[in-house]
Amino acid sequence: MFTFSIKGQDYCITSDYSPNKSLLLNTTHPDYSQYAFCVKIYVHVIRKDNHTGGQSISDVNEALSYLDLDFNPYQIYFDWDNIINYIDDTAIFDNPAGYWLSLPENQDGVDIYLFDDSVVHPVTGLGYGSTTNVGETSKLMVTGYFVGYEELLYSLPKSHILSHEMGHVFNLWHTHHGEDSNEDPDACDELVDGSNSDVCGDYITDTPADPNMGFNIDLSNCEWTGSGVEDNGDWYDPDEKNIMSYSHPYCMEYLTFEQSKRIKTALAVFPFLQLVSTYSNSAVNPCATSLLNYYPNSSNEVLNLDLTNKAFNTIYTFNLCDSYGNVVLSGESQNVLNTLDVSSLDEGIYYLHFFENGELTIKQIIINH
Ligand SMILES: [Zn+2]
Repeated sequence: MFTFSIKGQDYCITSDYSPNKSLLLNTTHPDYSQYAFCVKIYVHVIRKDNHTGGQSISDVNEALSYLDLDFNPYQIYFDWDNIINYIDDTAIFDNPAGYWLSLPENQDGVDIYLFDDSVVHPVTGLGYGSTTNVGETSKLMVTGYFVGYEELLYSLPKSHILSHEMGHVFNLWHTHHGEDSNEDPDACDELVDGSNSDVCGDYITDTPADPNMGFNIDLSNCEWTGSGVEDNGDWYDPDEKNIMSYSHPYCMEYLTFEQSKRIKTALAVFPFLQLVSTYSNSAVNPCATSLLNYYPNSSNEVLNLDLTNKAFNTIYTFNLCDSYGNVVLSGESQNVLNTLDVSSLDEGIYYLHFFENGELTIKQIIINH
């Protein structure tokens, strides 16, 4: 159906197909940009049969530090239970691309598969990362190394490429999306003057038009070595520091505010991302209050609000609002299991507002009879 173009250098082999694009772009969503989000993650490390090779505990922490570095400035945090799931299988270790899609996927967290720094792509001879298309599943992988300034070798799992693939999970396209898209029927070239930046390119207005730098970057100054003009005759000036570009991993530094806004919308409205995340209207990291357990979601007859992991001797208040903001159910509780009868509510999307020590956490609840 579609093919990846593996270039001489290519650190990401994610297809630009996005099954949820219309949900993201073609409907009017609330502005979630000032909310804080917590994303649950699972970390899997692939080793050889004899338990050797692969990323060490300190390597994993270094890799995850890139997620914090790139997402925390926008109040997007990650919640990891500090448990590494080791997969000790030499066949998988040696062939990430052949096996990683068949590895298990948790529904309530993003699965991060970290392969060994030594295992490269058989064609490019370099490391690579991948997700299953853009904004489709909560699963990603990174393997191998890249060649940085003065030919030094760097680990790709311990680089901004981990954030790049996480960006794809959160429905960010490449900044050059539209230039050479295989899978997006609406794709069109973004103009340098920004006049079509909301409907072409990566559909993000604060990333400059990007013709696809193809990793052709002068590593001594992180400047794109190419040049060219778009249809208006204006010279391209792409952002070599943007993590979602085909700049070079050595030069990547950040995501933009509009990219963070896109991520938060996707986390709030995509069903598969709702399952892995929670959000709050406070500035406090909502991962710190993520002991709120509720199930099932979607709910039919009852919604269980399990506060048994919460602190003793505190009164917690909660309410359930419909999508118009009307409170349809409310209550107070100590740290016990609450079984809420939702059988009489109309089907649809609701919001559970949970108050703890003055902080509000909001969870999206689907009622489906
Ligand atoms: Zn990519």
